[in-house]
Amino acid sequence: MLTATKKKVHNYSAGPCILPPVVFEKAAQAVLDFDGSGLSILEMSHRSKPFEAVMAKTQALVKELLGAPDHYQVVFLGGGASMGFHMVPLNYMKVGGKAAYANTGEWATRAVKESKLAGETIVVASSEDKNFNYIPKGFTIPNDADYFHFTSNNTIFGTQFKEFPKSPVPVVCDMSSDIFSRPVNVADFALIHGGAQKNMGPAGATVYLFDPNLLGKTGRKLSPMMDLKNHADKESMYNTPPVFPVYVCMLTLEWLKSIGGVPEITKRNTAKAELLYSAIDRLPLFTGTTAVEDRSQMNATFVMSDTALEPAFDGLWKEAGINGIRGHRSVGGYRASMYNALPLESVQVLVEVMEEFAKKNG
Ligand SMILES: *Cc1c(COP(=O)(O)O)cnc(C)c1O
Repeated sequence: MLTATKKKVHNYSAGPCILPPVVFEKAAQAVLDFDGSGLSILEMSHRSKPFEAVMAKTQALVKELLGAPDHYQVVFLGGGASMGFHMVPLNYMKVGGKAAYANTGEWATRAVKESKLAGETIVVASSEDKNFNYIPKGFTIPNDADYFHFTSNNTIFGTQFKEFPKSPVPVVCDMSSDIFSRPVNVADFALIHGGAQKNMGPAGATVYLFDPNLLGKTGRKLSPMMDLKNHADKESMYNTPPVFPVYVCMLTLEWLKSIGGVPEITKRNTAKAELLYSAIDRLPLFTGTTAVEDRSQMNATFVMSDTALEPAFDGLWKEAGINGIRGHRSVGGYRASMYNALPLESVQVLVEVMEEFAKKNG
């Protein structure tokens, strides 16, 4: 008999991250016997009927849950979101053309770096001057750029675009860490890409959701592996896709659909974020690191006013079964990642620990 872990852990890991318990149970079962087939999901051909059905269902769920236009296509590749940074300019920047980027964090910086290798790249907005603790606003995207790329949620620094920039050119977005966490109008995007391991599944799969009509216009000769159109034309089976990660993404998206989809998860994510940020604002011992209006609902970053108290605080949250809230080395302090599968109850436990600590040390 398979059971999920018995020890109650409140998992705030920034990625790979928490997934719903039902997903772990079903995934574990499929490793032993996929759907009563007598085969493990790990030993099945990706060209078998059952896996083709898994791929088709996962692609359909991505579009259904996000309300994507019918003609949009979905492919799942390896390489992580970081491979996406390389593929974006190759697929969208014309030979001799140029791209516009917003630089709002570590991942955006890497995206810019990759684009510069492909051609002219203009950073039209940046928050680097303040260690990326805010979202730049009111910037202009040039009409003659081939595309505009931005990062919807800055996982490391804890900021999030609350309104998406209006752009005169096709928009490409790295949504790795907030895809499926809130509504988006997919038709406004030429391409949404992201690693699965932050909000839609395990590490190993990278999702690309795009308007196929905007591909194949760059005049570049591409390796078939770098060519999104090739992958789309081959139903995401040009080469062996990440079979097991795609299956786990399917399970996670089925879970999301079963609880009420993006509208329901948006409510839950808002409630979790409000609970934690109100504690950060109420307790003088803790300070949020980002501009209040740009606070991420997924990754809440905060520091202690007195860093000498950190070891004592660390002891207390670890004792409460909390995992993974140490901040990224480039920000320090703490980062609580509240992805879709994190229950409100886990945030209540963290807030109780913060309050208890504040009472003792305030
Ligand atoms: C984690 C992350 C990445 C990098 O993802 P990999 O899959 O490790 O390449 C890129 N962008 C964002 C917003 C991320 O959170």
